Amino acid sequence: MIRGIMTIGHPVLRQPTRRITIDELHSPAMQQLIDDLIDTMRNANGAGIAANQIGEGVRITVIEVNDNPRYPYKPKIPLTVVVNPVIEAIDDESVDINEGCLSVSNLRGDVSRHVAVRVRYLDRAGNEHDEIKRGLTAGTFQHECDHLDGKLFVDRVSDPATLTTWENFEKFHRAAFIARITKFVEHGGS
Ligand code: ZN
Repeated sequence: MIRGIMTIGHPVLRQPTRRITIDELHSPAMQQLIDDLIDTMRNANGAGIAANQIGEGVRITVIEVNDNPRYPYKPKIPLTVVVNPVIEAIDDESVDINEGCLSVSNLRGDVSRHVAVRVRYLDRAGNEHDEIKRGLTAGTFQHECDHLDGKLFVDRVSDPATLTTWENFEKFHRAAFIARITKFVEHGGS
């Protein structure tokens, strides 16, 4: 079911979410929530969505990139259900990524992200994953894990002069951004 998406200023986006138990994960209610996250993300053409963006304070996010019209330059990411993630940087390398968010309407800005991260999580069946993500895909995982910690990308925009509407990003900033991140796109994915 497609759910309403909370927007910036709603307190639920600022509350860190709680980890869930395996029993909770296997419950019909939590499996339904995961389906709702997938439906809501796809309906909004998001690259990912976190549970608190639809008002549920649990540590679950779903991520998928597949010919996304909002982010045509992003490498594809197969549908990934991420439960109780723990994310950490692998080294000190970082890159400025221009990000937007389903909870922040029509505003994008540059955010410094780790180029490579290790993420450990459970999938919807409770299987453990321990993976390395790089480039724009690493940025997407960092953005979604930030949501689960009550953070929004605007908190991390170091230079407010990079803030732009989506229309002006296309018109004035996209070409330079694509040039800057090309090596990360080519080496993207997981
Ligand atoms: Zn977001």
